[in-house]
Amino acid sequence: MKQLVFWVVLLAWLIPCQSRAQNKTQVIAHRGYWQTEGSAHNSIKALQLANDINVYGSEFDVHLTADNIPVIFHDDKILDIPVQASNYSDIMDLKLTNGEKIPTLEKYLNKGKIYNCQLIFELKPHATPERNRKAAQVCVKMVTDLGLQDKTEYITFDLDAGKELIRLAPGAQVSYLNGDLSPAQLKEMGFTGLDYNHSVMKEHPEWFDEAKKMGLSINVWTVNDPALIKELARKGADFITTDIPVEAQGILSQCTEQ
Ligand code: MG
Repeated sequence: MKQLVFWVVLLAWLIPCQSRAQNKTQVIAHRGYWQTEGSAHNSIKALQLANDINVYGSEFDVHLTADNIPVIFHDDKILDIPVQASNYSDIMDLKLTNGEKIPTLEKYLNKGKIYNCQLIFELKPHATPERNRKAAQVCVKMVTDLGLQDKTEYITFDLDAGKELIRLAPGAQVSYLNGDLSPAQLKEMGFTGLDYNHSVMKEHPEWFDEAKKMGLSINVWTVNDPALIKELARKGADFITTDIPVEAQGILSQCTEQ
C-alpha cells in the first residue's frame, strides 16, 4: 500500500501541468488549516494558521441559532445538541477539540479582519426557506457592519440562502455548492461562481469551459489527492478547497513554474 501511495505521489509530480494551469489555481483551506497541533476544524486557530501559510482563503461553516446568533461549526449537532434549534446560551460553553469555545461569527470575523486571507463563508442550510433567508440577512448585516464585504466570499448548498445573499450583497462573490445546476443556470440566478465536488466536475467536464465563458469562478472541493489537484489545475479550476493546503500550494507552485 505504502509503495502504491509513493508511486501515485511521484507520478503526480512528474506529469507536467499544461498551459491552462496559468490560471494560477489558488488554495482554500477547508475549515481552516486544522491538520496541525493545537488546531481544530472551524477554530479561530485554524483561521490564523491558514493565514500564516498564505492561502488565498480559509473556509468556515456558519449556522444561525434559534435566537439568531451566527456561530461557526460544521455539523448539525454539537455532541447531541442541535445547533440551529438551540439558543446560543445552550451551546456557548461547548468546546472544539482544541479547547476553544464554539466561535461566534462576530468573534471569528473580528479575527479575520486582521488577516490577509479571504473569508470563505459557507452558510449552512437551515430548516425552512424563511430560516435560510433570515440566516443570510443576519450574516450579511454583520459582514457589512464590520466592513468586511471585500474580504468575504459566500458559498452555500441552499438556493433560498443563495438568492438572498445575492439580493442583499450585490457585488459579493456568491457560489453554489450543490452541484445540480449548470453554469448557465447559475449565471441566470446571479451567482458569481460554482463550487462543486470533484466528482460533479468529473461527470461534467464541459462545465469548466462553460463557466469560463460566462465569467463564473470555479472552485472544486474537497480535493486531497495530489494527482487530482494537478489535474484540476490543468482543467482550469480557479480554486481548490483542500484539507492539505501546504501540500496543495507546493503542487500548484510547480504547475505554474512549468
Ligand atoms: Mg464547509
